Amino acid sequence: MSIADNLKQVLAELPTGVRLVAVSKFNPNEEIEEAYRAGQRIFGESKVQEMTAKQESLPNDIEWHFIGHLQTNKIKYMAAYVAMIHGIDSYKLLTEVNKQAQKVGRVIDCLLQVHVAQEETKFGFSPDECRAMLVDGAWKTLENIRICGLMGMASNTDDTKQIDREFETLHNLFEELRVTFFVDAPQFKELSMGMSHDYHLAIARGSTLVRVGSKIFGERNY
Ligand SMILES: *Cc1c(COP(=O)(O)O)cnc(C)c1O
Repeated sequence: MSIADNLKQVLAELPTGVRLVAVSKFNPNEEIEEAYRAGQRIFGESKVQEMTAKQESLPNDIEWHFIGHLQTNKIKYMAAYVAMIHGIDSYKLLTEVNKQAQKVGRVIDCLLQVHVAQEETKFGFSPDECRAMLVDGAWKTLENIRICGLMGMASNTDDTKQIDREFETLHNLFEELRVTFFVDAPQFKELSMGMSHDYHLAIARGSTLVRVGSKIFGERNY
């Protein structure tokens, strides 16, 4: 199947209100262009340099979502164009994004990454760290970022019950934080969860942004 066919198949399964981030990391521009010609406009990348090189050579109406682990010294390279940063995992990182966004006169949409998987290796706030950061309230003074929701990854397992429990945990936290801290902030509406092997489960638990790569572009060659 072609990239366009794969894309159509994934899109056909998304209920209204769920958007697709086509994860194009490690895929060349020609493959992104194929998805673009088929109508896709939101692409996700996990390396700042790679995303920036692609942004410079691909159409301007692409929305670039940064989904990787972010180092503070890289923010400046994407501050001028990035549409959403999914992986905010510390207050310090949020202040650094705010600083770089201010320099270029933008407000950057951010998602707080929460660790719900069993693997130690995944990044993110614990639910308690995330609550504590929001209770503290200092984030409200950051005028060049908007907290638009949460992002998370389930464990890399075949145990669908476990994956489902982890997505449920993330969804419950999302609702709790929304009513506690964001009742007057309608932008807090995104729940970024679900990848190629588990996006159906994520959608059933209220995902609004699925991040699908290999199902569209094929297995990656690292
Ligand atoms: C690579 C990646 C994806 C996409 O993974 P696939 O299994 O190829 O769909 C989604 N989210 C994050 C954070 C990733 O790093």
